Amino acid sequence: MSTRYDVIIIGSGAGGGTLFHALAPTGKRILLLERGGYVPREKANWSTRAVNLEGKYNTTEVWRDGDGRDLHPHTNYYVGGNTKFYGAALFRLRREDFGEIKHHDGVSPAWPIGYEDLEPYYTRAEQLYHVHGERGVDPTDPPASAPYPHHVVSHEPRIQQLSDDMARLGLRPFHVPLGIMLDEQNAQRSRCIRCETCDGHPCLIDAKSDAQVVCVDPALAQHPNATLLTGARVTRLLTSASGREVTGVAVERDGAAETYSADIVVVSAGAINSAALLLRSASDRHPRGLANGSDVVGRHYMGHVNSVLLALSKCPNPTVFQKTLALNDFYFGSPEWEFPMGHISFVGKVDADTLRAGAPAIAPGWTLDLMAKHSMDFWLTSEDLPDPDNRVSLDRDGRIALRYTPNNEEGHRRLIDKVKHLMKQQTKCGVHGHECHEGLFARNLYLGQRIPLAGVAHQNGTIRFGRDAKTSALDANCKAHEIENLYVVDGSFFPSSGAVNPALTIMANALRVADHLRGRLA
Ligand SMILES: Cc1cc2nc3c(=O)[nH]c(=O)nc-3n(C[C@H](O)[C@H](O)[C@H](O)COP(=O)(O)OP(=O)(O)OC[C@H]3O[C@@H](n4cnc5c(N)ncnc54)[C@H](O)[C@@H]3O)c2cc1C
Ligand code: SF4
Repeated sequence: MSTRYDVIIIGSGAGGGTLFHALAPTGKRILLLERGGYVPREKANWSTRAVNLEGKYNTTEVWRDGDGRDLHPHTNYYVGGNTKFYGAALFRLRREDFGEIKHHDGVSPAWPIGYEDLEPYYTRAEQLYHVHGERGVDPTDPPASAPYPHHVVSHEPRIQQLSDDMARLGLRPFHVPLGIMLDEQNAQRSRCIRCETCDGHPCLIDAKSDAQVVCVDPALAQHPNATLLTGARVTRLLTSASGREVTGVAVERDGAAETYSADIVVVSAGAINSAALLLRSASDRHPRGLANGSDVVGRHYMGHVNSVLLALSKCPNPTVFQKTLALNDFYFGSPEWEFPMGHISFVGKVDADTLRAGAPAIAPGWTLDLMAKHSMDFWLTSEDLPDPDNRVSLDRDGRIALRYTPNNEEGHRRLIDKVKHLMKQQTKCGVHGHECHEGLFARNLYLGQRIPLAGVAHQNGTIRFGRDAKTSALDANCKAHEIENLYVVDGSFFPSSGAVNPALTIMANALRVADHLRGRLA
């Protein structure tokens, strides 16, 4: 097989997979290098025990935390990257997120591009990933040039009741924009069967819009110039004598070392692995790591301030697909709190095995099974701020070390209080009265109340883009300031993270960078 290409893309997730799909029609020779293989199609895809309790698809790689202790990251190395496991909630950042925003703990910095620069690509990404949604209901919704390509995914009765209760209180709940291939008008022909094991699980029947199903496989099927190499872990990038160009991509495949080269090299290994790869590629010309004259590579790691909260009622919650409702009324604050708080939504419906994985405090008088049958399972996200000391680095053995001190937690605490308050004001239950709603219990898939360091699902920010080469590693096109043919298109480029899920922004930006690269390749 050839070792020389026009473009090499490293990593096949939201960023790399989308870029691969966008560049394949150019006819240029494109090589996609992915360290993992395909997720095996097996019944365990939909087993909460296998996925959540046994961590069957998690990497077994061991990282280090800030104190040098072992860290077992909850992340996945497969074709399609973490989109194979994501909940497919595909949000645009808010228009304001692209500017500077004052938070309780500091400032969320502005992006070098505005919302309008990304808007056409958000529209294209929503079409590519089959997003179901409705414009204009969410009060923080940014303007859009086209409607969503598909109608919203409906609420099941218990979620509709909560939505009605919220609306009665003057709030504006809305349907989560979702990338699943569900046709509710024609259930018999619908690819998606609306099951309970979507968020966190691979889709056994390829009905989730993930990067493998929507981008990588179609590009390979339609374009012989597009090639995928699985099991190909990139270990290092090599540069020319001047240090201005990447001249080689060193790969470990089946235990053997191989080197590939291309006119353009795009790194998209996820925000943590991409930073580690650049740091590992240090050389005489780049002593602090490749493209790291600014010393920002690996710094400003963000992952959102996230919590999962269980609201227990005496009445059961029979919902199957729970992740349909969201609330952004407190995204930018409230009359009594002038700072942003964040986003309220749901995780997929939990069961006893999923709860067991988090070893939650059991509510008095409840078993895990009962708790799972009676809970509504909220997902709360607040923005964390880019702190240069929250960083990815390498330990003496070249292993990834992740140091993170949480920040901006007060807004999150207030967001939790908002959910508690809302749950108390639900409609009186016909059977149990107001006492039906027992209270709110903190739980997460791991231990403790908040999603811990190992929960790196929303990782971003480690190779930030910007206008100033002293404070950023990438320019506004996501090209490394210091290297003529090196780009980064995964979540690393975010200078700030907003408080909605990141994947659609990564996909849209990959489409934007693809347009730029098409110009270079012409
Ligand atoms: C359980 C879960 C639920 C989520 N739910 C949502 C959601 O509902 N909405 C949302 O917006 N986001 C969600 N996310 C986050 C979303 O999946 C990520 O933001 C997104 O996938 C990140 O895209 P990426 O391109 O940066 O990296 P990834 O998608 O992680 O892709 C990186 C790829 O690079 C490969 N790779 C890594 N190192 C190397 C190397 N050295 N050589 C070769 N290949 C390499 C990896 O195997 C992987 O395929 C969720 C994530 C998880 C884990
Ligand atoms: S069938 Fe639908 S709901 Fe179930 S995992 Fe697949 S995309 Fe998700």
